[in-house]
Amino acid sequence: MTETLKNKTSRAAKILDILSNEYPDAACHLTYNNPFELLISTLLAAQCTDERVNMVMVPLYKKHKTPSDFLKLSQAELEDELRSINFYRNKTKSVLACCLSLVNEHNGKVPQTMEELVKLAGVGRKTANVVLGNCFGVPAIMTDTHLNRVSQRLGLTCNDKPEKIETDLKEIIPDEQQVKYSHVIGQHGRTICKAKKPLCGECVVNKLCPSAFNI
Ligand code: SF4
Repeated sequence: MTETLKNKTSRAAKILDILSNEYPDAACHLTYNNPFELLISTLLAAQCTDERVNMVMVPLYKKHKTPSDFLKLSQAELEDELRSINFYRNKTKSVLACCLSLVNEHNGKVPQTMEELVKLAGVGRKTANVVLGNCFGVPAIMTDTHLNRVSQRLGLTCNDKPEKIETDLKEIIPDEQQVKYSHVIGQHGRTICKAKKPLCGECVVNKLCPSAFNI
């Protein structure tokens, strides 16, 4: 039987309540000091681990603090810095193009709307949501591999396209809880509801999960 939207909303609220207690410190795993650093690191984290991006970028941001600083680097120089990040050649191009748009169109500042962010080179809704939610207090569902997988297993979405998952979740998670949902579900995916073998026996929301002990 299909679950009603009302039931799903109430089940999502209970899940969020329990997981918020379980992971009170859940937060973005990328290290950043300002919206520009988070924007660039999120762009680089596609198909790469946050740990790797932090390892490369934390020292780099100490030397190059602004979009204009990055634009002083040639493609070859920046490639050299980003070499250990997956797809570094294409990502180097995107970073430089993004910095150019920031300087030319936004006075070197990171814009604060979805419409403007997704017009920047290399920036899609996923990256834009990370920046909006973490830096600007905008309600945002930050879809990533962990959030998508765990939300599907919990039966809170039956879609697999990030934009559709985002729409489904926005329908049942209140605006003011969306950033928290993104962080705690991400943390749950990293620690318990793992991709290959979820640890359902250790999961604090297994009584609310339709996939429990069934994967
Ligand atoms: S019960 Fe299992 S499948 Fe469901 S959320 Fe917990 S770990 Fe994931």
